[in-house]
Amino acid sequence: MSGVKVSRQRTGFLLRYGNIRIGLDTGIADGPTLLSHSHTDHTQSLGGAREVIATKGTLDTLAARGGRLKSATTVVEYGRSIFHGNVVITALDAGHVLGSTMFLIEFDDGATVLYTGDFNNVDSLVHTRAQPTKADVLVMEATYGSPEWVFPSRERVYGDIVRVAREVLDSGRIPRFHAYSLGKAQEAIALLHGEGFEVLAGNGAIDTVSRVYSRHGIDLQYVTLDSAEARRLIEHGCTVVSSSTRHMYHNLVKVVGSSVAQQMEALMVDFDLSGWSLPQYGSGGLPLSAHTDYPGLIQFAKNVDPVITYCFTENARVLAEALSRDGLPAVPLE
Ligand SMILES: [Zn+2]
Repeated sequence: MSGVKVSRQRTGFLLRYGNIRIGLDTGIADGPTLLSHSHTDHTQSLGGAREVIATKGTLDTLAARGGRLKSATTVVEYGRSIFHGNVVITALDAGHVLGSTMFLIEFDDGATVLYTGDFNNVDSLVHTRAQPTKADVLVMEATYGSPEWVFPSRERVYGDIVRVAREVLDSGRIPRFHAYSLGKAQEAIALLHGEGFEVLAGNGAIDTVSRVYSRHGIDLQYVTLDSAEARRLIEHGCTVVSSSTRHMYHNLVKVVGSSVAQQMEALMVDFDLSGWSLPQYGSGGLPLSAHTDYPGLIQFAKNVDPVITYCFTENARVLAEALSRDGLPAVPLE
């Protein structure tokens, strides 16, 4: 779309259209900043923002994780539009973490831009999948935007997580699932508890975010390491969800002392809940991804059917080339 300009600004992007300026996960002084979600790589450039527009889920998880906004904030809801001058901004569920948002931006001459932030095109136990919508310009993430990243179905990965948890517990050891404290940890807790396992959250960071999920209607049942129940769980066997092995060990020492903590640590069998573990699938990898895989990204772009696509993150160049070959002109944002 001629006239719409997108460029990198710090860790986010600057959208320009005539005199209008909009920050995408980057703080700007002469226009609003649209905040897609509260993972650190999307929040570290908010300094200098005049106004941040985000969902309550994003603002609440940001605050819970210690983020402090000095700017004014405007709360948006999924499926609702707000007017900002002559620009209409609509928030859409990105399916990535609590509050994660895609923004559809409509200018007064009808030109439209869709910014995806990070997004997931499949439903999970705690998040609802992102749905494409038509736009003239698409600004999309490309984390797994290379052909080798084709994820198994969520049901299959869930089944494998449950299976290895049972196997490890049956062998008298403790399955410990590593997951980001925002998003994946809550999904793991929901899955394991739903399958009848007792779940111990190994890190305060997980607990802090999980409480926000509960406030937003996603009730998560688990035990925290600093609770009275933790010792019973540790001694009788449970599943563990952890975002940091090192911090968990320090917490464990406080609860049971260093010699028992060392014994417990020796019993842990570790698994990574991450899309990046796909190459190890079948030998310990459990590719539970909060992002869309390669075929999903291609299909999503086709459904948006933009005149131009800007790709960002790891595989931006590979995805842009693939989309261009498929008849959707695309460029990486570098
Ligand atoms: Zn993210």
